[in-house]
Amino acid sequence: MDLWFTELYENASGYTIKIKETLYSGKSKYQQLDILQTEQLGKMMVLDGLIMLTEANEFSYHEMIAHVPMTAHPNPERVLIIGGGDGGTAREVLKHNCVKECVMVEIDELVIEKSKEFFPQIASAFDNTKLNLLVQDGFKYIEDNKNAFDVVIIDSTDPIGPAEPLFSEHFYKNVNACLKSDGLMSAQSESPYLYNEIIRQMYTDMGKAFPIVKMYTGYVPFYPTGMWSFAFASKKYHPYSKPRIDMIDKIDNLQYFNKEIYCTCFALPNFARKLLDED
Ligand code: SAM
Repeated sequence: MDLWFTELYENASGYTIKIKETLYSGKSKYQQLDILQTEQLGKMMVLDGLIMLTEANEFSYHEMIAHVPMTAHPNPERVLIIGGGDGGTAREVLKHNCVKECVMVEIDELVIEKSKEFFPQIASAFDNTKLNLLVQDGFKYIEDNKNAFDVVIIDSTDPIGPAEPLFSEHFYKNVNACLKSDGLMSAQSESPYLYNEIIRQMYTDMGKAFPIVKMYTGYVPFYPTGMWSFAFASKKYHPYSKPRIDMIDKIDNLQYFNKEIYCTCFALPNFARKLLDED
């Protein structure tokens, strides 16, 4: 008998993928974690019924959330990742030799442990001596650390459960305070085709905390609609100043990101501009 997994989008549409078997299923204090072997896309991680990654395609999300802010900052030496328990974003950040320390704050130890066990290529950064991995609430960590980072990357789940406070004006103001005077941030910001209210609120809140706020997009086939957006917010540097554009050619093993993608990813279709009230 064929086995299929379906993720529902707003209980109105969905994404269905054929699976061979369930490799792990368990519940932490925070969420339900399932790891499934798919027929086509390798292993797949699911949190609370939502697909986080597939082995075959995780590169597009992780490269875009990490390398865009790392390109926009002239010298990103200290980087903070909130969430990102699978390790993919840390793997990409640590491809930049200029990084002296990458702090990663993930709330759920189960995600880290099972990623090490089932996704060793994604979790490879956990062995890197420049990574300082902390298991705690990212909201609290940001509140307690000021003027400390060049780049902050919010690689969280959707705004429900433990990630809900990470989508708020209060949080973005704390991210601003956690950054050095010329710091900048990126965050996953859902699909502009589906989540209009969440996006509008998120960008309005970010605009109250940062002088420069931009949306950029990439294609992530296993996320709702495939078109995924990321927020870029900065105290000083505009993304088009692109101080480190030439270093992109030197980053190891990129499967999605390149110079042309950086230069075009901030170009938005009209409906997305309208969503953000941009001209
Ligand atoms: N790329 C994924 C997506 O958008 O679907 C997110 C991947 S990553 C696995 C998300 C991680 O954020 C999860 O492991 C979750 O435990 C973590 N997380 C959620 N809320 C958090 C919080 N308040 N502090 C730290 N980590 C948090």
